Amino acid sequence: MSSFMDTKIEFLKGVGPAKAKLLNEELGIQTYLDLIYHFPFRYEDRSHFQTISQIIPEIDNVQIKGVIRKVEVVGAARKQRLTASFQDKTGQIELVWFKGVNWMKGKLKPGVPYIVYGKPSLFQTKYSISHPEIEVLTPANEAGKKSLLPIYATTEKLKKRYLDSKAIVKIMQELFKSQGIALTETVDHDVLSKMHLVDLKTALKHIHFPPDAEAKNRALERLKFDELFFIQLKIFREKSDKKEVHKGIVFQKSHLVHDFYTNHKPFELTDSQKQVIKEIYTDLQSGYQMNRLLQGDVGSGKTITAFVCMLIAIGSGFQTAIMAPTEILAIQHYQGLAEYCEKLGLKIRLITGSTKKSARKKYLEELASGEMNILVGTHALIENDVQFNRLGLVVIDEQHRFGVAQRAKLWQKNKHVYPHVLVMTATPIPRTLAMTLYGDLEISTIRELPKGRKPIKTSHLYDSSRLKLFGFIRREIDLGRQVYIVYPLIEESSALDYKDLMDGYESISRAFPNTPLSILHGKMKSKDKDFEMDRFVRGETKIMVATTVIEVGVNVPNASVMVIENSERFGLSQLHQLRGRVGRGADQSYCILMTGSKISREARERIGCMVATTDGFEIAEKDLELRGPGDLMGTQQSGLLDLKVADLTTDGELLKKARLLAEQIIDDDPELTSPSHTRIAKHLSKDQIASLKWSAIS
Ligand code: ADP
Ligand code: MG
Repeated sequence: MSSFMDTKIEFLKGVGPAKAKLLNEELGIQTYLDLIYHFPFRYEDRSHFQTISQIIPEIDNVQIKGVIRKVEVVGAARKQRLTASFQDKTGQIELVWFKGVNWMKGKLKPGVPYIVYGKPSLFQTKYSISHPEIEVLTPANEAGKKSLLPIYATTEKLKKRYLDSKAIVKIMQELFKSQGIALTETVDHDVLSKMHLVDLKTALKHIHFPPDAEAKNRALERLKFDELFFIQLKIFREKSDKKEVHKGIVFQKSHLVHDFYTNHKPFELTDSQKQVIKEIYTDLQSGYQMNRLLQGDVGSGKTITAFVCMLIAIGSGFQTAIMAPTEILAIQHYQGLAEYCEKLGLKIRLITGSTKKSARKKYLEELASGEMNILVGTHALIENDVQFNRLGLVVIDEQHRFGVAQRAKLWQKNKHVYPHVLVMTATPIPRTLAMTLYGDLEISTIRELPKGRKPIKTSHLYDSSRLKLFGFIRREIDLGRQVYIVYPLIEESSALDYKDLMDGYESISRAFPNTPLSILHGKMKSKDKDFEMDRFVRGETKIMVATTVIEVGVNVPNASVMVIENSERFGLSQLHQLRGRVGRGADQSYCILMTGSKISREARERIGCMVATTDGFEIAEKDLELRGPGDLMGTQQSGLLDLKVADLTTDGELLKKARLLAEQIIDDDPELTSPSHTRIAKHLSKDQIASLKWSAIS
């Protein structure tokens, strides 16, 4: 269906085919609708006039009314400039032009009142404004200026073709003048009145041409609401659909959990861990298929929490699987859990890419017959020949590392009923983001670390203090501890990054000639990686020089120092993940962030944040603030957070309200068939809202 708003912009007065083509190429604007959704990125306050006596130079732009007195061309031939003295009742100021001198000179009429706008500076003892905007003062433009002037984003290429912000203002004015600008209201009346929102047409008019700041804010609120509300509606709709379709296996209470709990658990679980297990247990008995995200800081003990949940499934006669993103991590899970399984008389197996054919064959038989209780593995788990007998629960560790397709495949491993799914992440997600991103997943959070952990001490050292660093490392090794030294590897293929790593390794070997070292990087064969990692885990080597391959999940409690080289090149959440590799034992641990002497302001903020706190949630909030949600780990591919006006770091309150309302509406009217929801239903069906492809798992 094509409507007026689908008209191509070339038909708008003053645009034409050439400009239309440019606007499309540079800003993606094709239709009237695209144009009207190209919002100003800021406004200039033209709501009032200053007097010359009120001017404070070098601070803000000013808008003044006055009269031109004397116009002069001064300076030598090639360095000519035009000056005009400009007066109001309170004083005088100089206007200066360095370019277009003759053209300007012809235009300025002494004795005529003008409106001048620009940034005053102080030159010698005089105030002046160079290249001001200047217009003859008329009653019409005096009134018209009393508002916020929209400033639009353009590009260099557009500016060259005279499509600057001002030109876009003109085009936008044409659009609003055109007859029949028919915008379809997207939400129903009830919603507008409940939320005290202005209607869409007013909002769009005022976002471009606000009569005052209040109107602009109301417009902005309405548009932000739209963005957040429809995402949430979509989430709740999918969720309610899913509930319809996906009945889940109901697990019974079993002796297995009890046995583990009373006889074999290695330590007392934290209150947080117990709480999460309760939440999951409730899901597992609800009759619906569980889709739950378990987030908990590095070292918070997600593994054992997941294990207890697996026992619930196994106790009811089902099999479980745990999938990890790397081989090293899968092995660690396997080794950790095998110990408990032995005590409980359960059969656990590991399948990775390097599992021998014969062993694999045997395991697959055990799996198909139902003899095996727990299968641990990497991507190798999702291959087609991996067939379970009765899969009841799937645990996916460090979920952001997996693609949607991979998760979906695992999901389909039980042909009769979908298994319950628990995904785990150590990348804490700020609440606002989680609500938007994982809106269709239930979220459990482990908030506390196990008791007795000493917070890691973090400091920032410049490269020039390297001797101090070496001295410190030596001391810790003498105390029997182990050390990580991590180099950034931004691109897997970057030769330069590898050179940094190798140079670093050499200088460490020279500084610690009698200390056994390990090295680990992505270009090594998997066998060699395992060998090196294994030596370090067993304490044979004291220093592990590595790239970020060690980032995920590795557990060596005896390691007490994490040195991060060129730490300015890492993002906050990655720094936090790396730091989490230490502080896992009883000893005081340290994280040392090395940088060159010159680092950007933003890098300095990141490092400052790391030094100031070890709280993953605080760090995640800061990360969100510094980088914006689009950049946060795992969200890049979502396309979901392509928000135009709403900002998840600051619009948390509005998001909450929008979410609550969306939930109520879907609860009352899941199919949106009520007459009071017609507009919402229609807008939602247009599918303009990014679909929640990847968090939906299905
Ligand atoms: P993560 O949440 O990062 O995956 P792990 O599950 O690897 O953390 O746990 C980190 C370490 O803490 C492990 O050595 C684990 O045995 C230990 N741990 C987990 N829960 C507790 C607890 N309640 N008390 C003491 N130690 C615990
Ligand atoms: Mg873990």
